[in-house]
Amino acid sequence: MVREEGNGPTVAFATLGCKVNQSEAQALRELFARHGYRTVPFEEEADVYVVHTCTVTHLSDRKCRQMIRRAVRRNPRATVVVSGCYAQVAPEEVAAIPGVKVVVGTRERHRLVELVEEAQEQGPRVCVIPWQAPAPFEELPLEAGERARAFVRVQEGCEEGCRYCIVPRARGPVRTRPPEAAKAEVERLIRAGYREIVLTGVNLGAYGRERGDLDLAGLLRELVRLPGLGRLRLSSVEPHYFTAELVRVLAGEEKICPHWHIPLQSGDAATLARMGRRYTPDDYAALLARLRQGRPEAAVTTDVIVGFPGEDEASFTRTLAFVEAMAFSRLHVFPYSPRRGTPAASFPDQVAPAVKAERSRRLRALGRRLAVAYAGRFLGRRLTVVAERAVPGKRGFLTGHSENYLEVSFPGDPALLGRLVPVRILSRAGEGLLGEQAGAAY
Ligand code: SF4
Repeated sequence: MVREEGNGPTVAFATLGCKVNQSEAQALRELFARHGYRTVPFEEEADVYVVHTCTVTHLSDRKCRQMIRRAVRRNPRATVVVSGCYAQVAPEEVAAIPGVKVVVGTRERHRLVELVEEAQEQGPRVCVIPWQAPAPFEELPLEAGERARAFVRVQEGCEEGCRYCIVPRARGPVRTRPPEAAKAEVERLIRAGYREIVLTGVNLGAYGRERGDLDLAGLLRELVRLPGLGRLRLSSVEPHYFTAELVRVLAGEEKICPHWHIPLQSGDAATLARMGRRYTPDDYAALLARLRQGRPEAAVTTDVIVGFPGEDEASFTRTLAFVEAMAFSRLHVFPYSPRRGTPAASFPDQVAPAVKAERSRRLRALGRRLAVAYAGRFLGRRLTVVAERAVPGKRGFLTGHSENYLEVSFPGDPALLGRLVPVRILSRAGEGLLGEQAGAAY
């Protein structure tokens, strides 16, 4: 049932977690809009609240519960929906939270409006498909991005089985979006004026694996040929999915941003083996050397887990030395969080929280030092920034990400928002850079 645009019921969203979740939430916003719902900020009273959840750590679960309770308090008569990864792995726990009316896991989100209306007429609804169940890639078409960048989901699920990770049980088996559907969405977003397209997936490198046809390298070759494409950025790709062909494509295609997020997790071989990761530190170092041969200035960002069971001072010191040697441009540090139902949660030699905190502090300090060193290499040089937003409290200044994922601010007219702007880097500005426009935006 489609209602008149603009004076229909209201819906508010709270989204936690990764780029895949952000992309899905954007598509869900559009789904409700197509059914006449008006999106309002989460802080406001709404008829429907959607909390799109993450479950990667126990802290994420806690944050999700806080957002759910906040929605119920804000409007006790509202239809509160909990969707996504936390709802998938703990549906009973979520459904038991007072005020929750609809629980949807990581499938069937395209039916969300229908489920809301069923719940309003017939009472609470729980729609959670068992994670092991085979399923096609769920299309959640995207007409628009957020601000200047559009996140396009092309892959779902993961079967890697890393021993600390709950994601496979939240997201299920690997599913690939057919290349034609992926291309059609990117074409739509190019026509809508998005200059930067970010390809996302739960395990992006596994694109095409279960279909046996086009892999990630093949998809990239197709996408970079699309007329009007500004630039393409990849979200996270696991180290062992960098085929020779993928390295060739990333080295040769100027329209692919020279920025790769490649999770390391540990710089210690024994720890990687206990984690069930499928590479060694030497493999990882060799991969970065191959990638940097093609694009020496590329940014490599990564994730590292601190305090995995069995990690002692010696193995942590090896991780520190390895991270320093890899000269990452940005580091995401995660203290190990035992997840119920994962093998590592019952491993011996769990590391004390205080030790995890202290090691995280040391690794983050190293990460900041490496980030400053990397950004410093671009002083006086020209980068191309996607103008994402005005700088709060700094009139006439815009900010956004460069091709190598540096945050750059520069004086600019709001008419530049959403466009790719050549900027000469003049100085540092906190963790970012300051520059001036140095050519025509496009
Ligand atoms: S690759 Fe490993 S860490 Fe990443 S989502 Fe899959 S199981 Fe989790």
